[in-house]
Amino acid sequence: MCSSDLTALLMSPIVPRLIDMHCHLDLYPDHPALIEECDRHQVATLAVTTTPKAWRRNIELASRSSHVRVALGLHPQVVAERKSEIALWEALLPEATYVGEVGLDAGPRFYRSFEDQKAVFERVLCACAEAGGKILTIHSVRAVGQVLGQLESRLPPDRGRAVMHWFTGSKSEARRAVEHGCYFSINAQMLAQARHRETVASLPLDRLLTETDGPFTQADGRPSRPSDVAQMLPDLARLRGVTTETLQRTLVENLRGLVTPPIAGVRPSTGRGGDGRILTDRG
Ligand SMILES: [Zn+2]
Repeated sequence: MCSSDLTALLMSPIVPRLIDMHCHLDLYPDHPALIEECDRHQVATLAVTTTPKAWRRNIELASRSSHVRVALGLHPQVVAERKSEIALWEALLPEATYVGEVGLDAGPRFYRSFEDQKAVFERVLCACAEAGGKILTIHSVRAVGQVLGQLESRLPPDRGRAVMHWFTGSKSEARRAVEHGCYFSINAQMLAQARHRETVASLPLDRLLTETDGPFTQADGRPSRPSDVAQMLPDLARLRGVTTETLQRTLVENLRGLVTPPIAGVRPSTGRGGDGRILTDRG
């Protein structure tokens, strides 16, 4: 695997303690300091981008980080102005293991570009399916059914893996996503709403990850930072009936399952020696 892959981190002696599967590091004024913070607090962080033009700078800044990896994105909310950048996105895809933020947004502010969004998302999924082995973090505001429909027809589970970011679909849509092999990155805001709590409670424990979606969410009255995912763990653990420690270990194991290439006939998370050692090495 290339060094930009989280697999290397999970196989190294430095084990992540926390996971922020979706954070816009490049939208903070102190982007380099934030990367340093992720390493210091051992937060495995996926730095999502909104335009492929941000790829080079993000890669450069994260190049020496042990815990930050970068995702190649073209956000549905900027498709109205940036749809032509899909060509650059496609050109950069061979360099990327992670893809996002991508997806669909049918909210009133972005509905005008919905047809263009669908065309861009279709190209994203087709390119990922053709390349194979990509891991996507997906936006699906008011468009969960359409996102799942596109995933089902364009990205078979053996050609790429999808993480539903800030999932707000129904329980039946959640089941449909689970059947397609999707993971879910949960944030504190989702746990604050009864309807979404119920959905989170219904998801398979081994498909859960955590995220902040910073700086678009708040913690302690300021934009969330990746290490703030720690604040939601006791609540999420209670909701799922496990201890915080068990949840924390499970999340790392889930990340391992997500990023480890499947070995035929063996569950990804148990497919290699040393897994237990890595998890028990935690300080
Ligand atoms: Zn986002």
